[in-house]
This record gives sequence, C-alpha cells and structure tokens, in this order.
Amino acid sequence: MQYVERVLEELKQKNPNEPEFHQAATEILRGLAPVVARHPEYEQTALLERFVEPERVILFRVPWVDDQGKVRVNKGYRVQFNSAIGPYKGGLRFHPSVNLSIIKFLGLEQILKNSLTGLPIGGGKGGSDFDPKGKSDLEVMRFCQSFMTELFRHIGQDTDVPAGDIGVGGREIGYLFGQYKRIRDEHVGVLTGRGLSYGGSLVRTEATGYGLVYMAEEALKCRGDGFEGKTVVISGSGNVAIYACEKAQQLGAKVVAMYDSNGYIYDGEGIKLEVVKQIKEVERGRIKEYAARVKGSRYFEGCKGIWQIPCDIALPCATQNEIDGASAEALVKNGVKYVGEGANMPTTLEGIAVFQKAGVVFLPAKAANAGGVATSALEMAQSSGRLFWTFEEVDRKLKEIMRNIYRNMDGAAKEYGVAGDYVAGANIAGFIKVANAMMAHGIV
Ligand code: NDP
Repeated sequence: MQYVERVLEELKQKNPNEPEFHQAATEILRGLAPVVARHPEYEQTALLERFVEPERVILFRVPWVDDQGKVRVNKGYRVQFNSAIGPYKGGLRFHPSVNLSIIKFLGLEQILKNSLTGLPIGGGKGGSDFDPKGKSDLEVMRFCQSFMTELFRHIGQDTDVPAGDIGVGGREIGYLFGQYKRIRDEHVGVLTGRGLSYGGSLVRTEATGYGLVYMAEEALKCRGDGFEGKTVVISGSGNVAIYACEKAQQLGAKVVAMYDSNGYIYDGEGIKLEVVKQIKEVERGRIKEYAARVKGSRYFEGCKGIWQIPCDIALPCATQNEIDGASAEALVKNGVKYVGEGANMPTTLEGIAVFQKAGVVFLPAKAANAGGVATSALEMAQSSGRLFWTFEEVDRKLKEIMRNIYRNMDGAAKEYGVAGDYVAGANIAGFIKVANAMMAHGIV
C-alpha cells in the first residue's frame, strides 16, 4: 500500500470515532502525495505518522456555578499539535458540539494554515462543549475563569498562544485574559484577540473576514475579474461572516443571504449589514429578527436552503461540513464561479470534488481564512515590541499576507503538476516548511 494510504489507514484504526479528524487528515495527506513521492526520507523517518499525532493532548474538567447556584461541569480541551516552526497557536471554540475529533481536525488544519502565513507559529486548538448562548455575562465569566484556572499552566507567550473561534469573542477573551493575569501576575501576549485597551491589535476583529475577501479578490483579479457587481451568498452571521460581508460590500458586491444556526435571511436588495451587526454583535439575538426589521427581506427556517440561491461567489463562514455534495451541485447548477472557505472545513470531500470537477475556483479554508491567525501573529509582534500599529498598517500587512498565500499555493500547485488545485497547493505549500523543520529537529 502507498505510504499516504497506509498512514491514513493506521490513523483511522488508532483513532476510531473521530470522523472530522479522519476527514481533515484524508484531505491533507492525499494532497501531499506528490511531495511525499519526491521525498523518500519522509517515509524512512515516519514523518507523516509524527505529523498526524499531536505532540500533546490536554483534557480537563471545567466546573462552574450557574446563576441559580447549580454546579455545572463541562469538558475542556487543548491540543498542542505541532511546534516545529513556532509556539502552538490556534483558537478556542466554545460550542456544545465540541469533542476531541473536532479539536483535532481543527488543530491539524491549523498547523498548515499557520505555516502558510509565512509567520513563525506552530499549530494548536482547544475549546469546550460549553454553550455561551443564552448564558448571562456572569455565567460566561465564571466559566472562563474556571477554564483558565486549568489552562494557564499549559500556555505561555513563547509556548502556546490561544485565540478566539466559534463562541469565543472579545468578551470571552477578556475574561480568560483577566484570569490568566491574575494567576500568573504577568501582563503578556498569551492570548490574541485582546481588547485594544489591553494589548490587542487593530484589524484583529475584521481580519478573518477581510482576509478571505482579499484572497478571493486576488483570485478574481488573476482572472481579469473583480467583486464589483457580483452576487454573493455568505453563511453564518458571526465574526467571520460579518466582516467578509463588510469587505465584499466595500468592493462593490451585493451580498444577498446570511444565516445563523436556525435559518437564513434573503434580501434581494443587498443585506443591510448594520442591522445584522446590531442583532448579532450588540443584542446577541437571532438572524430571524432581520426579516422583521428590513422590509422586502425574508426569513427561512433551516440552513441548507441558502445554497439553492443563485450567486457568483459563495463564502461559507459558519462551521464544518455546511456544503455537502448536493449543496455543491446546486451552487454549480446556479452558476457559482468562486467558493472561498471562511469557516474551517465547511465543504465535505464530496462537495470539493463537485466544485473541482465543474472548474469552480475553490479557495480552501487553511489558505482563505488564514487572515485571522496572521493578524494574531501581528498582535504577538506588537505585544513583544510594545508597539501599536495603525489600522492602515495592519490592514496593509494583512492584504500582503493574503496575496502571498494565494501566490504560494498557486505556485505550489503548478510546481507539483496540479495547477489550479488549491486544496493540494495549500497543503503542499504549508507542509514543506513544517516538514523541513521537523527533519532538521531529528526524531522528536
Ligand atoms: P462565531 O461564533 O462568531 O459565529 C459562528 C456563526 O456560525 C454564527 O452565525 C453561528 O450561528 C453559525 N453556526 C455555528 N454553528 C453552526 C451550525 N452547526 N449550523 C449553522 N450555523 C452555525 O464564530 P466565527 O465567525 O469566529 O467562526 C466561524 C468559522 O470560522 C468557524 O469554522 C471557525 O473555526 C472559522 N474561523 C474563525 C476565525 C476567527 O478569527 N474568528 C479564524 C479562522 C477560522 P448561531 O449564532 O446560531 O450560533
């Protein structure tokens, strides 16, 4: 059996009941086959086996007390996956669906994403099955303090630097940082996505969504095209979705639909983003309320229908496996030309195959949503140097990083004979740097 397939087979046997991790590993390792074929030393040193095994997995109990005085217990996770090129870096996700499989798939993706940014950061991910939705601020604070009371001993500005992800925004990062500082008596850049008054960076909030659109803009530009006048569908209405929408609109596109986990809104006149921001960022409400506030718009219960809406560009920005084979077929049938993944692994393997067969320009998550972590690394640089860069400066660096990632994955795909296959291109471009560092470090 070929090396890649053998490693995948062993991974499935050793890690049963981890379907998301299997899915991510399959996408990554199969894309790496042309590189592995050129480097027999990888097999001799079991490089892929080491690459898919996290350096460390931390599982812990998170007890906390709710507003009624009832004791609750959640699971806490931190997967420190790979530190070959820098300290572990990757977000924390608070969502009831969180389990080890999801954290490991996210961590594995993060290694290559972080490498693609060109910045010195390794890969990690963490989180909890805690659901911040419907909890009071005080409950969220007590949970975050309990979570950090264990996590603090495993992280550090040169060891592991977590950030936000689903369910972890500015409020949660503030509580987590406050508890870290209190226990360690250190005001350091141990978390990114911090508020501007305590070490945060301008543009971090916007970075993933803006970065996604900067990369799509580059892909369009290389084909003599642009966002102006394009119809765009965006899934999600959280941090990534909102700022992808903002930048797409600034570039002249019409965003016609968005969703949350209950259902989607359609506004043929173009989404009024200030209304979405008010509902989701200020009121922490449901997207359904948009239809009640904006005349002519409509709300539909359930999420899947969003992919039936005709569009030129689809930007899935909510969660994993949002676009399956059937949804991809519907998008292609209705004329989609570009798909940019803002969320992590929002397209199933079947969905990707549909897009690639149809010649859709498909920008995979680890490249397309790397703007968030890239800006986190810029936040780390500012923290270490006690600097504070302007919005324009960080935005300019972000744009440059996204363009470079696009060029690198495009170049890698061409070099390895799979031109236009950005799934393979991103995996290859991200992997080579990590592999070189791992080879240099010996068997560790
Ligand atoms: P948020 O929590 O801010 O928003 C998540 C959005 O997705 C919400 O609208 C949420 O709806 C929706 N959603 C979550 N789960 C589901 C589901 N199962 N079905 C339908 N909708 C769902 O998270 P982010 O915007 O930060 O993250 C979104 C994606 O982007 C994730 O995949 C994350 O890993 C990825 N990402 C985020 C980065 C960042 O900088 N924030 C960086 C790189 C990637 P509801 O409000 O109903 O929960």
